[in-house]
Amino acid sequence: MSEQPSTAPASQPWPEGVIARYLTAAGATVDLKADETKPHHIDSAECTGCGFQIGWGSEHYARQDAQTHAERCRALPKPEAQQ
Ligand SMILES: [Zn+2]
Repeated sequence: MSEQPSTAPASQPWPEGVIARYLTAAGATVDLKADETKPHHIDSAECTGCGFQIGWGSEHYARQDAQTHAERCRALPKPEAQQ
């Protein structure tokens, strides 16, 4: 068995705390992180393409913002650092 690293966001494990991930038009993601102290709220959200951020707030509205941003954002995700 050989391990083939994949760059597809959908096949990568999600970072800890991420409860929702939206794929942007360019293949980056908008990651929503839960606020563990308050149900149905997010701690923050960030686009891995352009750095767009959503601050603390209702998960419901954060999901809408993330969805809207993901549909419009065309910034490519930053490549992994060379090893
Ligand atoms: Zn973006």
